[in-house]
Amino acid sequence: MINESDLEAWSYYNEAYKEKMSMDQYQSAAAKTAIYKSEHSILYPALGLAGEAGEVANKVKKMLRDGNFDRHAIAAEIGDVLWYTAALARDLNVDLHDIALGNLEKLYDRKSRGKIGGSGDNR
Ligand SMILES: [Mg+2]
Repeated sequence: MINESDLEAWSYYNEAYKEKMSMDQYQSAAAKTAIYKSEHSILYPALGLAGEAGEVANKVKKMLRDGNFDRHAIAAEIGDVLWYTAALARDLNVDLHDIALGNLEKLYDRKSRGKIGGSGDNR
């Protein structure tokens, strides 16, 4: 649960990281806002991540339907995706930074081998 010291910590984070924040700093700060039960770890953020990704898709869908492009609304949903991603990574005991770096290493390796296009996890 979020307590008074967490709120004070948020004030600190908000000022300290206004300019730049590392992925691990974000993951640590985001963890202080997690209120799901420990017995729901991994499952709760995985489901939340899927739901928020759906919200991103829904905002883009409505852009197609209504012709109104609201990039700030989409960005807010991407923030929710980021929160659940960070929470899921934390529950898996993996630093968000390591996931991001590993993903870039995979993509640049594919690019260097001319395999950036196409499909399949193990290109
Ligand atoms: Mg959302």
